[in-house]
Amino acid sequence: MKPLSRKIAAVTESATIAISNKAKAMQRQGIDVISLSIGEPDFDTPKHITDACIDALNRGETHYAPSNGIPELTSAIAEKIVTENKFPCTPQQVVVAPGAKQAIYEACEVVLDPGDETIILTPAWVSYEPCIQIAGGKPVLHEINQRTFQLDDSLLEKVNKKTKMIIVNSPSNPTGAVFNKTSMQLVADLCEDKDIYAMSDEIYEKMIYGKEHLSLASLGDMHQRTITINGFSKAYAMTGWRLGYAAAPKEIIVEMSKVQQHSVSQATTFAMFGAVAALKGDQSCVEEMRQEFDRRRRYVITELAAMGYEAAPAEGAFYAFVKVKGGDDVEVASRWLEMGHVAATPGSAFSAPGWIRLSYAASMEKLKEALARIKRVE
Ligand code: PMP
Ligand code: GLU
Repeated sequence: MKPLSRKIAAVTESATIAISNKAKAMQRQGIDVISLSIGEPDFDTPKHITDACIDALNRGETHYAPSNGIPELTSAIAEKIVTENKFPCTPQQVVVAPGAKQAIYEACEVVLDPGDETIILTPAWVSYEPCIQIAGGKPVLHEINQRTFQLDDSLLEKVNKKTKMIIVNSPSNPTGAVFNKTSMQLVADLCEDKDIYAMSDEIYEKMIYGKEHLSLASLGDMHQRTITINGFSKAYAMTGWRLGYAAAPKEIIVEMSKVQQHSVSQATTFAMFGAVAALKGDQSCVEEMRQEFDRRRRYVITELAAMGYEAAPAEGAFYAFVKVKGGDDVEVASRWLEMGHVAATPGSAFSAPGWIRLSYAASMEKLKEALARIKRVE
């Protein structure tokens, strides 16, 4: 038989999902595995959000909707962006997608032609590189200073005539680092000087501890060349709803819309009504979850430090990113899983060999037990 697509064969499967699947399979066999592998809030979606979705279902909101999203939602998103993220945005500059991941993929498809380069700042989340590859682009990795976790002029060495886009993710998955204004300004200046697009993945903007979130698009004219990605999975504990969005200049949204129309059509209609309730409703649920993550974060980071692990800043998101004490991170992660029954994701999956990522989006009880198990098998 003729070989399948070489382009897709070159793409690796999602390590976060693969490890989580493996942990689930072990659990199904009756093994008591604690999974700190996937980044997923352990809370249920707040009730006023699920109620709004159920009401929509009961009203018969079960039909196709406008492909970029129901007007109530695109308006609520544009309003949120103007007030919170502080850059101009109209409902026509928003596309709601089934997950932020789909929005990221669509953005790569519309910006990149074959061979166009996109800079990824590593350690980086697992799906940027495959999304660029599937879109035919070329990922160019730039390692962030692993002491400061901020950007410096060495970034400029990765730029050439083929550079089309740079991806920024602050707060970061997997490091938890939050870029300061100087790092963000460096990206903004680079994009404006060299005529480069930016994708700013801000999905963890609400999971931030003692730092201020800054949107790249709010700097100067950056809103004219930035695709801002966000979603409902993390802030509102809505991972399974598959709802995310992009905000960008109208010309980019028009192109993304085409990819969306010909692939997934739209996000699920009744789910979008839940998202309207999420944005328009009381935000105290977000703050309560943030405080609980903060409590767990302080516990996990303190315990890991006492165990002798060096950690990245942990200023945002819900991940502890630590250096393994020696040896290979993939080998350490499989030892933790096979012998300690704790699932964590090796740094290699994020182009950061020698590190390991633990999600602290799990109950205190599970975190305590997981750390005790790691102590036994490390
Ligand atoms: N960006 C980052 C940095 C993430 O960690 C995730 C989590 N999967 C996503 C995007 C995608 O989120 P979702 O597709 O669930 O909206
Ligand atoms: N973003 C989460 C993680 O990094 C969810 C899994 C995924 O989509 O990769 O674990």
